[in-house]
Amino acid sequence: MTVYDLIIIGGGPAAITAGIYAARKKIKVLLLTKNWGGQMAWAPEIDNYTGISNVKGLDLVNRMVAHLKENDLEIKEGVEVKKVSLKKDSSLEVRTGEEVYQSRTLIMATGRTPKKINAAGEEKFLGKGISYCAVCDAPLYADRVVAVIGGGNTGINTALEAAKYAARVYILGYQPKSSADQYLQIKAESNPKITFYHNILTHEFKGDNFVSAVVYEDKNTGEKKELAATGVFIAIGSIPNSSLVKNMVELNEKKEIKIDCQNASSVKNIFAAGDVTDVSHKQIIVATGEGAKAALNAYNYLNQMKGE
Ligand SMILES: Cc1cc2nc3c(=O)[nH]c(=O)nc-3n(C[C@H](O)[C@H](O)[C@H](O)COP(=O)(O)OP(=O)(O)OC[C@H]3O[C@@H](n4cnc5c(N)ncnc54)[C@H](O)[C@@H]3O)c2cc1C
Repeated sequence: MTVYDLIIIGGGPAAITAGIYAARKKIKVLLLTKNWGGQMAWAPEIDNYTGISNVKGLDLVNRMVAHLKENDLEIKEGVEVKKVSLKKDSSLEVRTGEEVYQSRTLIMATGRTPKKINAAGEEKFLGKGISYCAVCDAPLYADRVVAVIGGGNTGINTALEAAKYAARVYILGYQPKSSADQYLQIKAESNPKITFYHNILTHEFKGDNFVSAVVYEDKNTGEKKELAATGVFIAIGSIPNSSLVKNMVELNEKKEIKIDCQNASSVKNIFAAGDVTDVSHKQIIVATGEGAKAALNAYNYLNQMKGE
């Protein structure tokens, strides 16, 4: 069986950049990913990636993937890694549905998954009016009234995307005031289709076959109200995809992989990069930088093992 020098799990900005840096070091690299872009593909517009003043998330994904594919590495896309194990000789075994791969080092660049709100009706109406991805689904809600649950950066980004299509967009934010970046708040406030409700607790999604209303509580008054909406986006943040290594490496209280300044986890040949780690500021430019560092540090580790 081929033993890779490095396996990278993920297809977001951290993994793609790690792939480019590792391939340029001429080591044997395999990148395994479910999809390309990860959360970056969901960003309607990106205004904060150095050198590109404005770009759609999907366009930046395509540019990064094209750049990656100019390099010499093996890529398996559309595959989900199901299991990672550490062998007695410290090598790593990575299993997808059908295949098993072996490697000397690993980079976990598995990012994050949207958080569920766990309100009644959320499961029932998923795909029937409820979605977690505005870039994917906002066009489906053209001319409708849409509710966005969440008043942070993700919530406002989602509302801005939804407002391109919807008749009206209501943001239901849990906090007394928005935690989003100021420039996003200004964008939302100046959009005539968007109305912001603060201090809201979402209780339930109602409807028959398709969602038709959100039941919420105004935390200022304790009053329960109903908002008629036939499209709902849940945008309340995300959880790290760290479960593959949760019994092997140290995680923090948020279940993020703890890494040192060399991107090493508590297991010396398992590195991690991007939003799955405890590094502060979950941003594309941070994820790309961390991906580069993780690849270079995995390369240094391989050289140390060879005694170079
Ligand atoms: C709506 C939205 C808007 C945003 N806007 C901006 C913005 O304007 N500017 C900015 O800087 N940041 C923005 N962000 C944040 C940014 O997208 C993230 O910080 C960045 O994508 C993190 O990159 P990552 O590679 O660490 O993880 P992710 O982007 O989460 O990618 C993780 C990858 O790992 C893959 N994966 C996970 N588990 C497995 C598995 N078991 N097997 C195989 N593959 C797996 C996933 O499929 C995915 O491809 C936004 C995020 C969202 C949700």
